[in-house]
Amino acid sequence: MSKTIIFIELNGAKIKSGSLELLSAAKNAGQTIVGVCLGPGSNGASKEAAYYGATEFYFSEDESLAKYNPEVYTKALTEIIKAESPNFILASGTQLAKDLLPRIAAQNNAGYVSDAIEINFDGNDAHVKKPVFSGKAFAKVDFKNSDLNIIVARPNQLTVNDPDTAATCNVKEATVPSIDLKTVIKDIVKGTSEKLDLTEANIIVSGGRGLKEAENFKLLEELADTLGATVGASRAVCDAGWVPHSMQVGQTGKTVAPSLYIACGISGAIQHLAGMSSSKVIVAINSDPDAPIFEKATYGIVGDLFEVVPQLTKEFKALLS
Ligand code: FAD
Repeated sequence: MSKTIIFIELNGAKIKSGSLELLSAAKNAGQTIVGVCLGPGSNGASKEAAYYGATEFYFSEDESLAKYNPEVYTKALTEIIKAESPNFILASGTQLAKDLLPRIAAQNNAGYVSDAIEINFDGNDAHVKKPVFSGKAFAKVDFKNSDLNIIVARPNQLTVNDPDTAATCNVKEATVPSIDLKTVIKDIVKGTSEKLDLTEANIIVSGGRGLKEAENFKLLEELADTLGATVGASRAVCDAGWVPHSMQVGQTGKTVAPSLYIACGISGAIQHLAGMSSSKVIVAINSDPDAPIFEKATYGIVGDLFEVVPQLTKEFKALLS
C-alpha cells in the first residue's frame, strides 16, 4: 500500500478545501495517509484531517514556522519525509505550496508534477493530467521514479468526500531543526480584503474593461456579496490601476477553477482564458456577440452589463433571501 504525505494548509482553524480534496483523493485510492500541517493553529487540525482519511498527523507550532520561511519549512518537512519514507507527497497549489514543494523535490531527488487537474494512482505510480500551453492542450505525465513523487494540484478540481466523524489519527509533534537562516521574514502585511482568496473561491464575479471605470466595480461587488463570491478582474483593468493586481485572473495572474465564473465585460483574450477556462460553469456577459469569451462560456448573455448585472443582483437577492 502506498504511503502519502498530504501537506495541509489552514484557513483560520479549518483545513483549506484544496487540502481536503487531496486527503479525499488519497483515501479513495486506499493509501496510508500522513497529514502534515505546520505553523500557527496546526495542532488543532488533527481531528479534521482524521475525518478525511489521515491516520498519522504531524504538526508544529514552533515559533520559527509562524511566518512562512522556505528554508525552515523545507527543513521541517524533509525531517518528516526521512521519518516516514512516503511514496507520494500531495499539496494543493497555493502560493506557499508552489514555492515549497519544488524545493522539497530538489532536496529529496523526487519526481515533481505541478498544476495537476486529474490524478490516477496506480500502486506506487500515478498518472497525472495537467494543462499546458495556456490550457490549449493537456499533458499526461507518468513518474519514472518509484521512491518519492510529488504532485501539486490545481485547487477545486477534485471532489471532497463526506467526513467520517468517527475516524481518529495518531498525532505527533514535528521537530524543527535549528538552522542558520540566509533570509529572515520580518513582517507580512495582509491585504485589506476579508474575502476568500480567488484561488479558493467557489464563485467568482470577474470584471474587465467593459466596466468603463474603477468606480463601476461596485456593481460586481454587490453581485458578489449576494452570491458569497469573490471579485476577480482582467489584466487590462489591473494594469489601469482600477483594482489591485492580486485580483488578476489569467496567464500572468491567478489560475482559478471555481464552480461558477461570471465574466462581465471581459473579451476573453487567450491569456485571460488560460487562468479560468477550467471553471465548471462559465457565464459571460458581453455586449459584443462575437466576443471570444462566448466560445468558452456555458451560458452567454449578449447585453449591456450595466443593465444585466444589477438585474442579476436583484433576482439573486430575491431568490436567496
Ligand atoms: P478588452 O479586451 O478591451 O474587452 C472588453 C470587453 O468588454 C469587450 O469584449 C467589449 O465588447 C465588452 N464591453 C464593453 N462595454 C460593455 C458593456 N457595457 N457591457 C458588456 N460588455 C461590454 N489578460 C488577463 O486578463 N490576464 C492575464 O493574466 C493576462 N496576461 C497577459 C500576458 C501577456 C504576455 C500578454 C501579452 C497579455 C496578457 N493579458 C492578460 C492581456 C490580454 O491579452 C487582454 O489584453 C486582456 O485580457 C483584455 O482585458 P479585457 O477583456 O478586460 O478588455
